Amino acid sequence: MATMIIEGERTSAASGKTYEVRNPATGEVVDKVPAGGPADVDKAAQAAHKTFATWSKLPANQRREILHKAAQHMLGKVEEIATMLTKEQGKTILESRLEARRFGENIAWFADLADKVHGQHVRLPDTTTYGLVVRKPIGVCGAIVPWNFPLTLAANKVAPAIAAGNTVVLKPASTTPLSTLACIEALIEGGLPEGVVNVVLGQATGEAIVEHPLIRKIALTGSTPTGKRVMAKAAEQLKKVTLELGGSDPCIVLDDADLEGAARAISVGRFFNCGQQCLSTKRLYVQEGVYDALMEKLIARASKLKPGNGLDKDTRMGPMHTETQRAEVEAQIKDAIDRGAKVLYGGGRPKGAEYDKGWFIEPTILGDVPDGARMWTEEVFGPALPVRKIKDLDEGIRLGNDTPFGLGSSIWTSNMAAAYRAVQELEAGYTWVNALVIAHDELPFGGTKQSGFGKEHGVEAFLQYTEEKSVVYGGVG
Ligand code: NAD
Repeated sequence: MATMIIEGERTSAASGKTYEVRNPATGEVVDKVPAGGPADVDKAAQAAHKTFATWSKLPANQRREILHKAAQHMLGKVEEIATMLTKEQGKTILESRLEARRFGENIAWFADLADKVHGQHVRLPDTTTYGLVVRKPIGVCGAIVPWNFPLTLAANKVAPAIAAGNTVVLKPASTTPLSTLACIEALIEGGLPEGVVNVVLGQATGEAIVEHPLIRKIALTGSTPTGKRVMAKAAEQLKKVTLELGGSDPCIVLDDADLEGAARAISVGRFFNCGQQCLSTKRLYVQEGVYDALMEKLIARASKLKPGNGLDKDTRMGPMHTETQRAEVEAQIKDAIDRGAKVLYGGGRPKGAEYDKGWFIEPTILGDVPDGARMWTEEVFGPALPVRKIKDLDEGIRLGNDTPFGLGSSIWTSNMAAAYRAVQELEAGYTWVNALVIAHDELPFGGTKQSGFGKEHGVEAFLQYTEEKSVVYGGVG
């Protein structure tokens, strides 16, 4: 049975309760896991608070060295961690390898910032004094992670937090705890001191993290309704929050676009990870002149995405993560069809005995999806793409912005003026121009509108795990 990681202890829940983690492709039990609660969060927060006193005071170059060694050790275990990730999450082994590698690389990327970000020296009008702005770590940080990219989204929080000198209480999604435990265990084996990252498990630990008085900052990736609840709760103690929430990213393709490049990016953007991505291509607006040609290319790509168990080498798309999640996407597809949308590809479940026990669904493309359909107004968190013809860029931008979300967006065109307008006018934290929808380590990533606020990735993420303090030194003149 898996255990929680709280400082030097590998522990069950204080309540003794457990639950099962199941494989979304087969329904088999992968492992039993402690169902933690507030008492376990308290223990983890106390441990993280105690460790903060030593970890935050280490010379920054030593923190950098420790994190590099730990990341290297973890990267030596990518294969076993990836297999575990596929078993608990469902994604293909290729996707899991990429994600497990990204975990270690992210720790290493932020390790390099540990001793590179400095404060400032400031001249003051009274020359017998001078000012400093010093940057300090915040303290214990809570990291709450969803199930779609369990490792990437844990690393996005843990890596900048610990590089900056904070300690962490980490809560993976209850359905995907095992690969996260393996990653943290590998970091500890590689030299990360016990207590710097503590892992608590079970649904009830999320709220307990937000409520715990020793935890000073909350970083959540999750749905927009969860973000609102967490922000309201965190406000009671005025905690800092970073919220990476839902999205419904538009993609606009104009008549002068490179259609091959666009089809590839849209297919990856919509179908990678079985469509369970925050940054994704969730609404497609195509100018009339290239609609048919682009649909032909997209359908050809979708037809190659063989669904199956992520551990099979021929599988190109794993199952959805849960039955509820699949039912939600199926209801959104049905709503669009009932309103008159045309099924251009997929629309149902793949047939065959091998699909009976898992949450499989076909990659789906729907054309002429009418206004008001749920696929336009809600986040579609699965491999189904609504498409609509547009007359021009104005219509594309108007429809693209017609959403409460503002996470990502993209445009395909060879007209630089059109691209520039889209960059200026699309309301989103990211715009890709003629490029694959990939979040880069080097660029700050985060939403606007109801997709949340705060940044992950980039120097900006590191800074958000520090606090500035102003200092005046007198009597020096
Ligand atoms: P979710 O909101 O249900 O859960 C996310 C995490 O929050 C889980 O660990 C859950 O246990 C915890 N949680 C739930 N309620 C809580 C509460 N009241 N207090 C504290 N913690 C609580 O989301 P999900 O279904 O696991 O993930 C899918 C959602 O995440 C989608 O909306 C997706 O767009 C979003 N997402 C956003 C990003 C991003 O970076 N913006 C990335 C990936 C996923």
